[in-house]
Amino acid sequence: MSKIMAVNAGSSSLKFKLFEMPEEKVICSGIADRIGHEDAIFAIKPAGKEKNETICSIPDHAVAVEMLLEALIDEGIVSSLDEIKGVGHRIVQGGAYFSHSEIFDKKVEEKIESLIPLAPLHNGAHLIGYRAFRDALPNVKNVAVFDTAFHQTMEPEDYMYACPYEYYEKYAVRRYGAHGTSHLYLSQKAEAYLKEGSKRRVISCHIGSGASLCAIKDGKCVATSMGLTPLAGVMMGTRTGDIDGSVMPYLVKQTGKDAETIYQEFNKKSGLLGISGVSNDTRDIEKAASEGNERAILATKMFARRVADYIGQYFVRLGGCDLIVFSAGIGENSEYFRKKILEQCSEALGLVIDQELNNVTIKGKEGLISTSESKIPVVVIPTDEEVMIARDVVSLVKPK
Ligand code: AMP
Repeated sequence: MSKIMAVNAGSSSLKFKLFEMPEEKVICSGIADRIGHEDAIFAIKPAGKEKNETICSIPDHAVAVEMLLEALIDEGIVSSLDEIKGVGHRIVQGGAYFSHSEIFDKKVEEKIESLIPLAPLHNGAHLIGYRAFRDALPNVKNVAVFDTAFHQTMEPEDYMYACPYEYYEKYAVRRYGAHGTSHLYLSQKAEAYLKEGSKRRVISCHIGSGASLCAIKDGKCVATSMGLTPLAGVMMGTRTGDIDGSVMPYLVKQTGKDAETIYQEFNKKSGLLGISGVSNDTRDIEKAASEGNERAILATKMFARRVADYIGQYFVRLGGCDLIVFSAGIGENSEYFRKKILEQCSEALGLVIDQELNNVTIKGKEGLISTSESKIPVVVIPTDEEVMIARDVVSLVKPK
């Protein structure tokens, strides 16, 4: 038995989950949030116990890691830090360098660093998180687990952008995708729902505040909706999804704002929030739409159509489909949005949804939401990126 930590470090947060492996039992989880602020939050929840939350100053990630390690001892979660046999870090951008997870060393660190321009909001923060653990636990191996790795099996005609080739050669401009760790998890869980002898063509819909779809054949990614960055693909909570490149220079000219400001608006003020003007959260949008708010109604319709359009695209890309999977915050919890999405493609794809099953398969439940008449089974599978991280740590570090 070994204790393995899965870490997701953001620019001002550090989320963690400690597992007992290989049992895959969660021992505790938590977050240090608002790092860099006087009123930061440190919360830790040991499995089966109440969450312990403190508001205090957390000046940087190194302090957050110190607090976490202290809390593990204070809460009696570990009796010695030597019990931790490995730490896995979520890394959003692995570029074309990484098609699987790697143990951190100087070279891996440098490559991740060199990719910061492709993921300025993420890779820098991941490295800060990694360095904090490396310094706090010098005898423990750290593993980098890439969001992009699963998508490295795409063919050039799927990942290339039709812009001058030199931009690919000089600046590595291409589609990398994201949420790969989740799509890989879902494709593995999907195996249980695939009929024997099926062609194993899966369309995986990870739709949460960030949303991406993935076309998977024989357990390998052939296409995915996010692009160079997570801005592309379907409409999201606050992101535009696919948008004509001309909109950017046009808005720069018309508004007098600079490109960076418009880019931030595309990332943070668009999507469900931008259209509805209500919220980026589907719960608020659903409520507003049911009260007749026209823009909230439009936001739900646009969201459903964008996701359905990608399902249609991937049906063609895969030459058919043997399973559709819904996951993440919206996909796991919103029967309303699932119904709206599936209504858009049920006629073309011969989908028949069991409304009762759709209504009850929420809040972490897994299962089919289609009837036996449906030409393609539709299933809800709660995702678990952290357990994938812990598994990769175990397979690379081989703790004794
Ligand atoms: P994620 O990024 O996967 O954590 O998803 C978060 C998003 O999922 C929220 O912003 C909501 O839009 C949506 N969501 C979470 N819980 C629910 C729920 N119970 N009902 C409807 N939507 C939900």
